[in-house]
Amino acid sequence: MTEIIDGESVAADVRGAVADEVSRLSDAGVEPGLATVLMSDDPASETYVSMKQRDCEEVGIESFHVEIDADAPAAELYETIDDLNERDDVHGVLVQLPLPDHVDKRTVLRRVAPEKDVDGFHPENVGRLVAGDARFKPCTPHGVQKLLDAYDVETEGADAVVVGRSDIVGKPMANLLIQKSPTGNATTTVCHSRTEDLEAKLAGADLVVAAAGLPEFVDGSMLKAGATVLDVGINRVDADTEKGYELVGDVDYESAKDVAGAITPVPGGVGPMTRAMLLYNTVKAAGLQRDVEVDLE
Ligand code: NAD
Repeated sequence: MTEIIDGESVAADVRGAVADEVSRLSDAGVEPGLATVLMSDDPASETYVSMKQRDCEEVGIESFHVEIDADAPAAELYETIDDLNERDDVHGVLVQLPLPDHVDKRTVLRRVAPEKDVDGFHPENVGRLVAGDARFKPCTPHGVQKLLDAYDVETEGADAVVVGRSDIVGKPMANLLIQKSPTGNATTTVCHSRTEDLEAKLAGADLVVAAAGLPEFVDGSMLKAGATVLDVGINRVDADTEKGYELVGDVDYESAKDVAGAITPVPGGVGPMTRAMLLYNTVKAAGLQRDVEVDLE
């Protein structure tokens, strides 16, 4: 029987643990705070930011929000980040991506103070992750790691294939999977847009993390029987629904679930974990900045 990996339930556990830590911090005089910065007219980005604010509210994290006109000069964004870096009531600073073309993403990611970089995208935090000394793990791969742990997926010695090499998902995911850790020690192959014969790589994989942003492109016939499949993809496809679209993963769930040993659905798999790990990182950031120990696994 294929196990359906329930991200909603594991994310609820993470949120519960975070809420407990928020009240412990509050007893110690620390009110964790997350600032989101939006410089975009993209409705999807607006939705993501408002979901993050709602999530904060649910666990007792203070949330602050700054909106910058998408046409404003990049300097306005830099100044906003500098102000947030300085504020004592803000422990995490998240700049919602993507940014307008006239803004250099790299400069922005370097501008966020590494201690407040709850996305884990600052080069200092990327370096620490690679060195096996992570301060903040990027939320999506960290969420996948939590799912592997929650479902006791054996990664040691497993052949893992990560499809996608982005800085926010594929690369950090592969890094976590090769580390000497209970959810690491996997022999990991990173596939990308120039990979030849993806099918052959997938056919030997005990563990697949699909993060290419291509709707349902991994199907059951490409998977090894019993493989654990973590579908990171969130793709909008036209559908006969009220909204005119539906969300599907990078994996064709219907055919894959008959072959896989365990699989995440979309929605309800990795997505809720990404959101929960942001709260986790924010509380961790508050503890680090105020020198109060935070008890989160
Ligand atoms: P991206 O566009 O930055 O990266 C996509 C990667 O896929 C690239 O590295 C590219 O080389 C690779 N790729 C493209 N075509 C390929 C092919 N034919 N074969 C193999 N690899 C190929 O995307 P991203 O930001 O990493 O996001 C990937 C997907 O995950 C998107 O659908 C995104 O919406 C989703 N996402 C979901 C969450 C979540 O919480 N579930 C979080 C972040 C991203």
